[in-house]
Amino acid sequence: MGSSTSEHLFERARAAIPGGVNSPVRAFDSVGGVPRFIARGEGAELVDVDGNRYLDLVNSWGPLLLGHVRDEVRQAAVDAIGRGSSFGAPTEGEVELAEAIVAAVPSVQKVRLVNSGTEAGMSAIRLARGATGRSKLLKFVGHYHGHSDALLVAAGSGVATLGIPGSPGVTEGAAADTLLVPWNDRDAVAAAVAAHGDDLAAILCEPVPANMNLVAPEDGFLAFLRAQSDACGAVLVFDEVISGFRVARGGAQQLHDVVPDLTVLGKIVGGGFPLAAFGGRADLMDHLAPAGPVYQAGTLSGNPVAVAAGLAQLRLLTDEVYERLGAVTDRLVTGLREAFDAAGATVQVLQHATLAGVLFAEGPPRRYEDVAAADHGRYARFFHGMLERGIYLAPSGYEVVFTSTALRDADVARIVEAAAEVASALAARD
Ligand SMILES: *Cc1c(COP(=O)(O)O)cnc(C)c1O
Repeated sequence: MGSSTSEHLFERARAAIPGGVNSPVRAFDSVGGVPRFIARGEGAELVDVDGNRYLDLVNSWGPLLLGHVRDEVRQAAVDAIGRGSSFGAPTEGEVELAEAIVAAVPSVQKVRLVNSGTEAGMSAIRLARGATGRSKLLKFVGHYHGHSDALLVAAGSGVATLGIPGSPGVTEGAAADTLLVPWNDRDAVAAAVAAHGDDLAAILCEPVPANMNLVAPEDGFLAFLRAQSDACGAVLVFDEVISGFRVARGGAQQLHDVVPDLTVLGKIVGGGFPLAAFGGRADLMDHLAPAGPVYQAGTLSGNPVAVAAGLAQLRLLTDEVYERLGAVTDRLVTGLREAFDAAGATVQVLQHATLAGVLFAEGPPRRYEDVAAADHGRYARFFHGMLERGIYLAPSGYEVVFTSTALRDADVARIVEAAAEVASALAARD
């Protein structure tokens, strides 16, 4: 089956929507070709408007840990819609979701719900600045924290893919207070803290960076960030929009046993709906209005449908789910490594708990530059080879592989088989 309906829709989309998409990476710019317009999802699979089926290794960029249209989540959302789509007044569901997040995430004593990871990150930063009375932020090169001005500086993911160094429209003023440091570089962090510690409101990171492919924290690095924050009085913020509820139920902070002051959550927490959250120490969170003076608000925040779906999904995230997700990821990573080895490919199949990545590089990456220097043209060819064989990978070599528990062992075997074919076809072309 071809992709003529997707092609036609993309043409219409480009006339009415900038670049034809509502979020840049979807446009396939970094791999080339026409993005597939999706008609529906079914468990582990996507079905596009031309009727092609794909095993999904994106899962909406992470939210769908249990796969598409999981019945309990669907039913919860449908039930909630029947009671009303939005009230702009408090509901019981918000309390339940907040309690579920507090119970699951070690650092979170109080939490506020918002609509996107961008909003959550932006609000956490304002809170850190408001609570400390300081202005500077320390962030890591290649870490993505959404598209708010102060954080869109050397951000990975779509920004890295498009090669935008920040972005036009972000003023020098907005970026001037953001200090940039290479990931896994203790000396650089210590030097920045020594020079600016008294002005530093927050040290912000993705504890398991997953927007510059997958670059795990080196042993002790997160604890080092905790100690540096303590030493200068900066708020330590973990952006766990991807790692939260994925690398472990309590996120990277549980897996690595390092507790930040504030945590940013998104993606999984909304069960596939526009919902995100930020939370942390109660004394910090109580700086937020109306408890305190730091203003933050949202007409649709805590939307009852999103809350119901998020809560339904969180309730399904048992220990067995993480065991299964771990087993699926292990099996996939092992299979891909064998397939690439057999083809003699120069590639890193990266894994950190239940996250994986495919990076055409000679060694494991330590920082953003290592990912930028990888062979992204080869990733594009790999991506298209897989797409033709019904495997939907992220359309950029800066992204990770998001598994779901909807993938059965036979599905994983099909993915590995496809990868073996594509890898040997790529090798034959060399
Ligand atoms: C996706 C993402 C965000 C932004 O979330 P949106 O809902 O897309 O605004 C922030 N931080 C990280 C680590 C992310 O992966």
